[in-house]
Amino acid sequence: MKSLSPLEQALHAARALVLADLVAGDVAEADVVSLVEDSVTQRRWWVEQWPDGVEYVAGLIAQDVQDALLERYGRWPLCPVCGSGDPHALDVEPELGPDPHWVCGKAGVKVAAVGSLGRATGGTRSS
Ligand SMILES: [Zn+2]
Repeated sequence: MKSLSPLEQALHAARALVLADLVAGDVAEADVVSLVEDSVTQRRWWVEQWPDGVEYVAGLIAQDVQDALLERYGRWPLCPVCGSGDPHALDVEPELGPDPHWVCGKAGVKVAAVGSLGRATGGTRSS
């Protein structure tokens, strides 16, 4: 057996991070999980064309899933920081870079790393 290539490891990790955030938001339904799989498939092709982008796949898959959810379900993930005003979704920053985070564009704060949304929305925020 060959061990997983760095690309497959990165895709596997990215998939796990985005799924963790979907679980945190209670939207990890079977058809939503298939959206993640679709994105992983597309990003595998994308990184094969551009291997330097391997660090960026977690942020990209998070954004792919966010876009796909917006069409089918609505905004995800909802901002847990702003208590009042219109509910709004968090954004991934950087859009194309390593170490992606969910940020609230309104309050201008980093909410959580992609994959750690459960800790941010779990009610207790460590300072
Ligand atoms: Zn906000």
